[in-house]
Amino acid sequence: MPNKSGMKALFGAKCPQCREGNLFPVSVISYRKLSVVNKKCSVCGAVFSPEPDFFYGAMYISYAFSVALIITVLTAINVLVTKPELWMYLTTIVIGNIALMPLMLRYSKVVYLYLVGKLKYRGA
Ligand SMILES: [Zn+2]
Repeated sequence: MPNKSGMKALFGAKCPQCREGNLFPVSVISYRKLSVVNKKCSVCGAVFSPEPDFFYGAMYISYAFSVALIITVLTAINVLVTKPELWMYLTTIVIGNIALMPLMLRYSKVVYLYLVGKLKYRGA
């Protein structure tokens, strides 16, 4: 069986150990069950949340995503608009944050689990 790439598994929000099981019960872009992470991998049985409130630390990564979004929006508006006004920044940032909220929340947990969770890829 071909070795699955870690990046592909990360972007697909798959289990870090087998790279097949899903981390979330719904799609990563869904607004439903925003805070829910599967307790165990349905394929290999790896425990995604080794301790209570494990994903609390993911909020730092989520914060970094938000800051990155704000910097991107500010730069884009400064480049694209000749005389930008304050409301342009504010509405774009608010809309961008709401639109990307499921992605930022879920991928902050995925990145956190891949970085801090002690699950290593075991091959297939
Ligand atoms: Zn697994």
